[in-house]
Amino acid sequence: MNADATALRAEFPLLAAAPELHYLDSAATSQIHRSALDAVLHHETTSRANVSRGTYRLAEAADLAYENARRSVARFLNAASADEIVFTSGATASLNLVAHAFGNTLQAGDRVLISEAEHHSNFVPWQMLRDRIGIDLAVIPVTADGRLDLAQLSERMGSRCRLVALTHCSNVTGEWTDVDTVVAAAHQVGARVLLDGAQAVPHGPQDVRALGVDFYAFSGHKCFGPGAIGVLWGRQKLLAAMPPFLGGGGMIGEVTPTRSTWAEPPHRFEAGTPPIAQAVGLGAALDWMLSLPWPAIHAREKALCQALIEGLKRIPDLRLLGIDTTTSNSKRAPIVSFDIPGLHPHDICQVLDAHHLALRGGHHCAQPLLAALGVEGCTRASIALYNDTADIDALLAALDVARRELT
Ligand code: PMP
Repeated sequence: MNADATALRAEFPLLAAAPELHYLDSAATSQIHRSALDAVLHHETTSRANVSRGTYRLAEAADLAYENARRSVARFLNAASADEIVFTSGATASLNLVAHAFGNTLQAGDRVLISEAEHHSNFVPWQMLRDRIGIDLAVIPVTADGRLDLAQLSERMGSRCRLVALTHCSNVTGEWTDVDTVVAAAHQVGARVLLDGAQAVPHGPQDVRALGVDFYAFSGHKCFGPGAIGVLWGRQKLLAAMPPFLGGGGMIGEVTPTRSTWAEPPHRFEAGTPPIAQAVGLGAALDWMLSLPWPAIHAREKALCQALIEGLKRIPDLRLLGIDTTTSNSKRAPIVSFDIPGLHPHDICQVLDAHHLALRGGHHCAQPLLAALGVEGCTRASIALYNDTADIDALLAALDVARRELT
């Protein structure tokens, strides 16, 4: 397998058709890999039928494709069993599922601990749960450079903590969470650990058993798969002890006019017709990712990230948000956010767009983190496996133009 960025880029139809495009917004949505598109087309043209219902051969083919996709996800996460994989519509839906289903096993006064660095989708569902049943929601603050202040972990956890729900990797600073420290502290007080893996998974397969966590959530559209598909992984025992979130077809054991019983996980959590073709496409994208030479890809992503940070540091007044990994050994994903005082991120992004650069500017659904960092918005460059030095050079050159045009 060729890890060269040019060869990889050629495997993404949108990028192959737009050689002038410098796509640096993969943290919002990555481009879709050819294998995922091919798998969706193949499924829809050879095996399209509903799942878990039909006894004819076409329906059996759909069942097989859907359940094979579940097995691909289980391999990608090194899950103990495919039954631990719940298909959802995305990371947001997965996090809401835990907040409702696991949340319904909590009592008023039980603590859920999150952090100031969370994406809104790992903030708001817990605030809603607090308002619904009276949990005690505590927040780990971030340091001045946007890192989780884990020195405060034990104190913030207290004695009634039931769940620690944290991002695996920040969508603003690219910082990876020190999962070992979190898991050890949480499990000591009997709390479960949920990781929001939305920004981790695009940078390679994850091993939920080695991580030692209890729940893991991610979205397909950020890891080279289709949109409208996501995953919740949970330990089998935990899923089995949770009531359903949504009710409907496919998630029941038996329904009488007065009561219902539930199917076993994962089907208990997949009410209604699931996103079947999207799951098949995601399975193909993850199989493809499993075949990649990750050490070489990580080395290139890191070199690009360092080159970008070096270049940004030469721009007068520009403020990098988060750790400077050119001077520290900290681990980061290749996501770099910055602020140029006096220039609005939307204006910057519009100038960049005129130079065929796709970057995101705004609050990145992380308003608490941005407030802690003292900014309302920022511009973010996020690098993926198909990016190369040409993308970084183009960004640095266009930022020079933006500064001249906008000041
Ligand atoms: N968590 C993080 C860290 C994210 O970056 C995102 C997407 N920006 C989400 C959760 C939500 O993902 P989705 O919108 O695909 O549900």
